[in-house]
Amino acid sequence: MSPFKTPVATSADSRDHRGAWCNHLPFGIIPDIMDIVILLGAPGSGKGTVAAALAGRGGSFNHVSTGELLRAAVAKGTPAGVEAKSYMDSGSLVPDAVVAQMVKDVVDAASGDAATMLLDGFPRNLAQAEILEKMGAPVKKAVLIDVPDGIIQDRIAGRRTCPKCKAGYHVKNLPPKVEGVCDKCGAQLTVRKDDNPETVRDRLAVYHRETEPLVAFYENKGLLARIDGTRGVEATCKAFVEAAGLK
Ligand code: AMP
Repeated sequence: MSPFKTPVATSADSRDHRGAWCNHLPFGIIPDIMDIVILLGAPGSGKGTVAAALAGRGGSFNHVSTGELLRAAVAKGTPAGVEAKSYMDSGSLVPDAVVAQMVKDVVDAASGDAATMLLDGFPRNLAQAEILEKMGAPVKKAVLIDVPDGIIQDRIAGRRTCPKCKAGYHVKNLPPKVEGVCDKCGAQLTVRKDDNPETVRDRLAVYHRETEPLVAFYENKGLLARIDGTRGVEATCKAFVEAAGLK
């Protein structure tokens, strides 16, 4: 039975009452749930790469990326996807209620699951962090993957994604075996629409303005850990597992 019995906020009210929606959620609505580890970091800092690498290693990690959920919703043309598209294309944040509902649905589906949920891309601002708290989500750690902005720009310029199985690559740091072709499913790799230099600049500005305050938020709760994200995928994964206190 679903642990969520609350009325669902509509996206229409979220834009005018940003953050206020969480006030309607009862406390403690996520019983018996797995640990949650939040991945914090700028776009291109490696959150998705680390989470996907760990989730690919077996059953103990469950990777939940709000960016992926939103891109899937856009591709399917769901009402949430239709609403999210223009925000995503311009590099701004999708309204909190739209994203929070998606997170609520996946957390609900994973209720009782023993795997650690690696939450990649949520929360993205203080209002979302408060929504997560009001859900009663058992946040074990928030790990900041620290990468300077200059490196981010280069990284994103080389980023390639498989449109079919969503595997991520980088032309220099994580190249596919055959140029332009996904190792896992053979599809032609693509560049994300919001990975162009102008939108990346906007996304970085949004990160510093909206998301960076979460570093202090989780630090004040004694939940923050920082790792150096400028090294290779293996080293970053290892540092992440240690920082998050995972096995
Ligand atoms: P990402 O794949 O995490 O870089 O996310 C891509 C885009 O999806 C972002 O630039 C936002 O437009 C949107 N997005 C992802 N997660 C969130 C979130 N938690 N809140 C608002 N918008 C989000």
